[in-house]
Amino acid sequence: MKRVVILGATGSIGLQALQVVAASSDLTVAGLSCDRNVKLLLEQAVSLGVCDLAVADVAAAGTVSPALYPELNLRKGPGAAARLVREVEADLVLNAIVGFAGLESTIATLESGRALALANKESLVCAGSLVTGLAARRRIEILPVDSEHSALYQLIASADRRTVGSVIITSSGGPFRGKKQAELAGVTRDEALAHPTWSMGEKISIDSATLMNKGLEVIEAHHLFDLAYDQIEVVVHPQSLVHALVRLIDGALLAHLGPADMRVPIAYALHHPERACVEVGPLDLSGGLALEFWAPDEETFPAVRLAREAGIRGDAATCALNAANEVAVSAFLEGVLPFMGIYQVVETVLAQSDGGDLGTYAEVAAVDELARSRAAQACAGQSIGR
Ligand code: NAD
Ligand code: MG
Repeated sequence: MKRVVILGATGSIGLQALQVVAASSDLTVAGLSCDRNVKLLLEQAVSLGVCDLAVADVAAAGTVSPALYPELNLRKGPGAAARLVREVEADLVLNAIVGFAGLESTIATLESGRALALANKESLVCAGSLVTGLAARRRIEILPVDSEHSALYQLIASADRRTVGSVIITSSGGPFRGKKQAELAGVTRDEALAHPTWSMGEKISIDSATLMNKGLEVIEAHHLFDLAYDQIEVVVHPQSLVHALVRLIDGALLAHLGPADMRVPIAYALHHPERACVEVGPLDLSGGLALEFWAPDEETFPAVRLAREAGIRGDAATCALNAANEVAVSAFLEGVLPFMGIYQVVETVLAQSDGGDLGTYAEVAAVDELARSRAAQACAGQSIGR
């Protein structure tokens, strides 16, 4: 029986992970965490008989009555998930927290020698060298949950590493595929959240609309697979059925296909090195299935270019890019920043930021904090008022 801690259990990935666990007799839940949806977290804890919990939001955690739940060990506050990871007996941690907030738990997981299934791509964007260095020292292989990286992990493992020329990650193109800058000026929150092929949390849905998600994924692939930035290509593939490809030096391409269902990569990571049955409908190849691939429109959607440029400058720049993007996406979701303002905020903050390595969590946190305050100022400059 593999004991799994699920961080971000109330989110899109967390809920699908719980479905994967429920469908398996080999997995059991040892701990759960959330930010503020305590009601749902308690329902999950009671139905699974889990006592070890973490709630990041102090006010939300304060609504849990110890008298009603005397058996619970509830950790509270911003560092609660990392404490849960360090204190609970478990074999694997699924980190499905969104944003920079997930980094501390990634580090706690690796430091405590546990296997890590990583959905929180922001950990690698903010602190790629720190995280991969720690994993290497502890001899822990990071199991990617992101669908493209799960696909690459499997493809690269199937080839001789020296024969891999480059990798290709696919993007659906998001809800605004085919649109030009002028058409995007006034797009609304609801339009941006309406992803054509995947159902996800709000932050990653906006990242998919700007294509910043693909930018973050290029940085994620660089760190996970030790690839140079010019070895990582991005193509738009509207069907979201081919998740990634590997270009071998002899001209052959290996592709990974599957339904657009995150339970597939989640199950792969949770069961690794085994594979388990996932109840997804079979991909029908008999009905004239068309697979299209296009170059991304980098003029309208400059996010992948911005991410590559930051990546080449190093972790300090990618950490600043991530912080600026988080602040800008929140401002867009609150209705105070126009959609195209997201790129402007990221570009402004990147122009003010240094590059180079970040060796400790404290250094990463300082860069994150400074970039957030610069991004808040840049947002105020672009503000559309309430
Ligand atoms: P979500 O918003 O649906 O869920 C986020 C979870 O994190 C929630 O449980 C929330 O309570 C928790 N959380 C939020 N802020 C927190 C904080 N400050 N401290 C502790 N916990 C906090 O997001 P999601 O779509 O499930 O995405 C989670 C991660 O997985 C992101 O990094 C995302 O990029 C990545 N990812 C998601 C998908 C997807 O299909 N949803 C696909 C690939 C990668
Ligand atoms: Mg992805």
